Parts: sequence; C-alpha cells; structure tokens
Amino acid sequence: MTLREMATQVDIREALPDGNLSSMNREWNTDCPWCGKSGHFYVNLQSKLFFCQRCKEKGGVMRLLTRVGRLDLVPDTYIDRNRVQARLEIVGQKEDQLADVTMHYVHRPVGWKRINKNKYLDEYRRFTAKDYEVYEVGESDFVPQLQNRIAFAIEPDGDRIGAYIGRWAAKVTPPGKLRYWNPYGFDFGRLLYGFEGVQADTEAVILVEGVFDKIAVDRCLGLQDQSRLVCLATFGNRVTRLQIRRLLDAGINRVYLVYDHDAVREIKHTACELNRYFTVEVNHTSGKDPDECTPAELIAVFDRLQSPETYYRNALIPLKIK
Ligand SMILES: [Zn+2]
Repeated sequence: MTLREMATQVDIREALPDGNLSSMNREWNTDCPWCGKSGHFYVNLQSKLFFCQRCKEKGGVMRLLTRVGRLDLVPDTYIDRNRVQARLEIVGQKEDQLADVTMHYVHRPVGWKRINKNKYLDEYRRFTAKDYEVYEVGESDFVPQLQNRIAFAIEPDGDRIGAYIGRWAAKVTPPGKLRYWNPYGFDFGRLLYGFEGVQADTEAVILVEGVFDKIAVDRCLGLQDQSRLVCLATFGNRVTRLQIRRLLDAGINRVYLVYDHDAVREIKHTACELNRYFTVEVNHTSGKDPDECTPAELIAVFDRLQSPETYYRNALIPLKIK
C-alpha cells in the first residue's frame, strides 16, 4: 500500500480536536497540534496534507499522526503494528531524556560564495550544471580551514544552513591535511545530509555514509527530481537516536541502509536499531564505497537488499589482515 492510498483511508478528524469544514468542505480547520493556535490549522480531507497558517508547520498524514500519537489509525497494511509503540515512545520522550530535536540553523560562513564549477568536482566527480543546482557547494577565502577546500551546505533552508562540511579540493590530500574538515560547534549527530529533500510525500529513505555516496545514489537511481524516495547521508556508519527521531517526526516508514563494505559490524548494529522503528532493508556495497561503484554495481547492491535478520545471519565481518 502506498502512502497516498493509505492517506485516503484514514479518518483524520478522529485524531484532531473539534473544528469546521472549510474550502467547500475539502478541508478540516481546527487547532494546531504544533503551536496550539486555534483555528489556524488546515488538513485536506482527501490527501491529508496539512498546513498551519501561524507556525507554518506542514506535511503529510504520517507526520501528523505521529505528532498527535495516533499511529493506531494507520492501517496494518501500511505500518507494522509491532513498531507503533516504539515509535511513539521515542517521539514522545521529554527533552531531559533525549536532546531537543529542533534544528538550529546558522548563517553561511563569512565570505561564502556558491560555486558552479570546480576542477576536482568536474574532473573526478563528473559534476554537471544540474549537480551544482541540486547540491549547494561553496568556497570562502576568509575561513582558514577552507583554503584549498570546497564546502557542502548541509540542510540549507533559505538564507541559512544546518551546517557545512569542508572537503579537500583535489583527488589526493597532502600529508598532514584532513580530507574532510568538520567545523567546530555543529552537532553532526543531529544532521542528515539531504534532509531538506524530505517532503510530505516521502515514504522511504536510503541511508548512506557520506556526501559523495548520496550524490552517487541520487544519480544512479534518478532521485533528483522527486521526493517519494530520498537518499540521506549520516556522516559515518552510525545512526544516532536524534537522527532516528527526526526521521520518525518526518513520518518516514521505510529505511534502506546501504553502508560501505568495510562496515559490516556497524551495519548489523545499526540495522537492528532501525528495525525497532522502521521497515528496514539492508546491504553493503561489494568491495568499494558507493561513490566508487559503477551504476550497474550500485544497482546490484539495491537488487540484493535483505531483511536485517537475514543480513545479521549471513553477512560476514571481514577479517582484519595484519
Ligand atoms: Zn501551528
């Protein structure tokens, strides 16, 4: 059952305070479950897309039902009943049990210039004009650590961003220099590269380790011009509880976990953790990182996705050969 089909079957009025029909009986107008303002919240009774005129929260039926703790209204054919309790528990946890998940946006670093060409990206990463449009890459002459580096904007939102990450702008990183530079003061455990692409119609996400892995998967599976399936990078081979909670808050139901071949142990751990909340399928790349795979190799990885149970039994942890 797709998200759209499921949305039409839910009687959303059961989950919301009393209200009024509006827009020729196409919408339900009631109090906002986010800001509490009365009469400023509108839900389309067919699509279940919602919008608050005051706090501007918007989204789809899974996000709304998660917020009001009524995932029991979702049909069993869409959501696994066994996961509902775990989902509502982690989302309902108070701030003293789990850090605040509110995003803290910041200004782009001083001197930020968005770029649309770069020797390293063009030659080694085959960046196209379209890629520069989709993935914001910048430079700054004023941030010392960004000398000879390019920077990827993380979760850009208008004139602000969630964070940025610097990458040495050449295939070979000189000795003594870091290939990636994470600026201080950002909590990468709360961020997900690509999360701005998650929309009301997003049913599933693919989780990969790094920025270039996401870009490779987007291109290979043709994900750039749609939002039903969104690829996100977790900045390493772990998923934090904060990241899980953000995915649940957004109404995500299904997760495909594809980490690098050398992270089998971490994949097993992460897949089991994700499996408590989401329908999960998992695999690792064979012998190469996702961004080094050919499109055919990457598609083969997705063709062989497995349940966490099967993966846990069958995937071999590579021996470290000294
Ligand atoms: Zn509101």
